[in-house]
Amino acid sequence: MNDFKLKKRNLFGNAATIEHLLKNIAEEKFPHAVIFAGIEGIGKRLAAEICAAALLCDNPIDGEACGVCESCRLVAAHTHPDFYIVEAETTKTARNIKIGQIRDMQAEASLRPINSSRRVIILDGAELMNNAAANCLLKTIEEPPSQTIFILLTASRSSLLMTIRSRCRTINFDKLTPAQIRDALIERGVEQSEATRLSVIADGSFGRALKLKDSGGAQLRETALDTLEKISRAKLTNEDIFTLGATVADWSREMFADFLTHVQKILRDICFAEVLEPHNFDLAPRLHEIKIPERKIFAMLETGAEFYRRLKSNANLRLLAEAYLFRLKKIIG
Ligand SMILES: [Zn+2]
Repeated sequence: MNDFKLKKRNLFGNAATIEHLLKNIAEEKFPHAVIFAGIEGIGKRLAAEICAAALLCDNPIDGEACGVCESCRLVAAHTHPDFYIVEAETTKTARNIKIGQIRDMQAEASLRPINSSRRVIILDGAELMNNAAANCLLKTIEEPPSQTIFILLTASRSSLLMTIRSRCRTINFDKLTPAQIRDALIERGVEQSEATRLSVIADGSFGRALKLKDSGGAQLRETALDTLEKISRAKLTNEDIFTLGATVADWSREMFADFLTHVQKILRDICFAEVLEPHNFDLAPRLHEIKIPERKIFAMLETGAEFYRRLKSNANLRLLAEAYLFRLKKIIG
């Protein structure tokens, strides 16, 4: 099996989408500017590289990259002269695509392709362009250099300029199901119960499941559940709150946001157990044991939403976490 066929196999959740794109390539109908839209970690980048390989391959077979020619080899190594990737640059305070990066890309795009009959440009994280960069890109997409194909990847299509959106065809990538994520994790050697836990909290993103696996993300949900169990039995002491506050002080804001999200989802699962499919279906027996009156659950959910907003300010994380837990404790009374 060639490298790109292997990669295609990794796109388990959006197989039909990539087949459709490859068919477009076989029929010479691939759009000159396309947006791949969908949450992080569901294979947009992988799909874009598979398409790039197919578009640049010297001997494509039914629209697919052969995987063995010089072009395929260079695309796989990211050294093909007609294959250009623009990625967001991360600094301490921000992650964005700057106008200079777009200008560099344009300079490249204005040249004739070198090895192939066309050039493929991937813009990964297109929503991370600032206005100047987006307007600069718009000019190129309005009058595209002949033989140049743009693939824009975005987790937030609505953040792109309307004028860019209207000039690109959009291909939507779906969230994966927990079962798809679980099976893929098991296939990669993750133990079954861990795979189930991760698949439930990954929110449809395989990339997120992998990240959670490496960062001990399943433990975060356990901490959230444990805290709620204690609160519901009026067993959460002030010492517990200060201990947790000290732990949170070492977390990133993103991690505390995840913690809040877990608490909110667990509360919703408890409240709507009778009517909705629970998020945390693997925790059903433990959730069933938590008894909190509906009125108080709503108050706790509102508090969670409020602290989620406060998290976006510069508030001290430890104090924020402690204030949050004291509020939940007070609601239970
Ligand atoms: Zn090839």
